[in-house]
Amino acid sequence: MEFGPGLLDRLDSNHILRTVEVPNIQLDDNDKVMWLSNMNKKMSFSTEQTWMDLRTNWPNVVWKNVVWYSRFIPKHAFILWLAVQGKLMTQDRIARWQSKGGIQCALCKISADSHEHLSFQCEYARGVWNELEPLKYRLGIVYDLQDLVSSIAILEKCEKYRIGG
Ligand SMILES: [Zn+2]
Repeated sequence: MEFGPGLLDRLDSNHILRTVEVPNIQLDDNDKVMWLSNMNKKMSFSTEQTWMDLRTNWPNVVWKNVVWYSRFIPKHAFILWLAVQGKLMTQDRIARWQSKGGIQCALCKISADSHEHLSFQCEYARGVWNELEPLKYRLGIVYDLQDLVSSIAILEKCEKYRIGG
């Protein structure tokens, strides 16, 4: 767009500018900062609403409260968060782009580690699970890490309902 003589005429011909609502200026009232939400609702400006409109809305996941509960230990929660998404740097993942061969689980030295190996198949993991017999009884049979996290989430909901109800 060129500036100079005739600018106002060119702006006037712009159809977008014709759709802009002319503000109703009230001299006896103070200015207010307003926000037009994603739902096209005009409201008082708030940082909370701005954040809600700007952030990416991801779908809720069943494991949210299992990983991010009120007294979580950040290091543990972060590792579990990676694990439930299958994003831990396990040797089976690393081997996809860097195969050096001879990779072994650092805990049992029997086979390469993977999410399933570290969660259930490793001798070390089985030893830990054997120590958690009461939890295993409450969870029932779980087949993989996703199943385990889903079972814990369901168990947590049932216990909240039982305590609240
Ligand atoms: Zn192992």
